[in-house]
Amino acid sequence: MKKLVVQKFGGSSVATAEKIMNIAKRIAQEEKKGNNLVVVVSAMGKTTDSLVQLANEVNPHPSKREMDMLLSTGEQISIALLAMALHRLKVNAVSLTGMQVGIQTDSAHTKAKILHIKTNKIFDLLRKNHIVIVAGFQGVDKNLNITTLGRGGSDTTAVALAAALKADTCEIYTDVEGVYTADPRMVPESRKLDIITYDEMLEMASLGAKVLHSRSVVIAKKYNTKLVVKTSFYNIPGTIIVKEYKNMEDLLITGVTSKMDEAKITICGVPDTPGIAAKIFKALAEEDINVNMIVQSASRKGINDISFTISQSDIKDANNILQNLMKDVKAKDLNFDKNIGVVSIVGMGMASHPGIAQKMFETLGKHGVNIQMISTSEIKISCVIERSKVKMAMQKLHQSFGLDKVGKKILKGIKK
Ligand code: ASP
Ligand code: MG
Repeated sequence: MKKLVVQKFGGSSVATAEKIMNIAKRIAQEEKKGNNLVVVVSAMGKTTDSLVQLANEVNPHPSKREMDMLLSTGEQISIALLAMALHRLKVNAVSLTGMQVGIQTDSAHTKAKILHIKTNKIFDLLRKNHIVIVAGFQGVDKNLNITTLGRGGSDTTAVALAAALKADTCEIYTDVEGVYTADPRMVPESRKLDIITYDEMLEMASLGAKVLHSRSVVIAKKYNTKLVVKTSFYNIPGTIIVKEYKNMEDLLITGVTSKMDEAKITICGVPDTPGIAAKIFKALAEEDINVNMIVQSASRKGINDISFTISQSDIKDANNILQNLMKDVKAKDLNFDKNIGVVSIVGMGMASHPGIAQKMFETLGKHGVNIQMISTSEIKISCVIERSKVKMAMQKLHQSFGLDKVGKKILKGIKK
């Protein structure tokens, strides 16, 4: 039986005519293996950024509907060019926009969610031995408005297509070699993982690793789609992302991540009475402000401090809301601290090996890193620490958990 493979190429892989030609050659080789191929592409290079800039020059507050109309054009360019490149190599290929495929989304412009994907047109074309090239990042709502899925959304298009078509694999080609144990700019000894679980990948993505759009991993997990992340610049194996694999708990942890875009807020001296936390977090939620970590100090004479982290981009809004609330919750003081970072360790091994938290805290303590807040899940531990120490802390954690010995070495001196 023919296999069905969905391949996705990111903006950096199709940034120039030459790169598009190279991708076309790679796709043509894949086609020779006799597999059915659906290819999803992003806009060329920084096209989407340029379009955003252009919009802002015309109107600093562009309507979201028109924004989607504009941004979706980036992908329309790259699908057509890739189809032309394939034709030059005598390969049958047809490009389709999201609307032509029938990628139906809700109407939340600039961050639409996929509701349903029609598969008949794609299957028809595959049956006629065509490679189908689909524009990433875009869809259409029930009123035929063009929508986009949020920046980086082509990954989500690819995985959702793979799930809808029941593809054998979904390969995400990018400018990195796979999923790394840590960002190599922070930890030079970082390694490429051979395999990782959806849950680990989801934690890593939400904790700062930027390889994949996190919604794409949510979909892959839901439909058990086999995902592979690899580089489009070489022919080397990447990282496989699956539900579970043999010996997956052998590693204590699989990755160290960091986030530098958060801020810590402390509301000091609130009375220790029921309903206070509810009031504070309700007010924030009503303005769509996401709260990440929350810590409440033990009550001292009926008085608490409540600290939590939010995204730095929400500071201004949060300040307005909380200043208004201070009297109401009888708070004494309000502090904002931008000088923080979050370091996290992630891994399935945590669930079955005791002492991982202790090892993390010990490593941080030994190197003079003060822990300001802690949060945990089954497979991750995050600590808020002073921003200037994040890089060093990551390196020490990477080393003490032996991550410099797992997976494969990242190839150096990559020429793009
Ligand atoms: N072109 C879109 C963006 O730059 C979608 C993507 O690259 O996945 O965000
Ligand atoms: Mg992208």
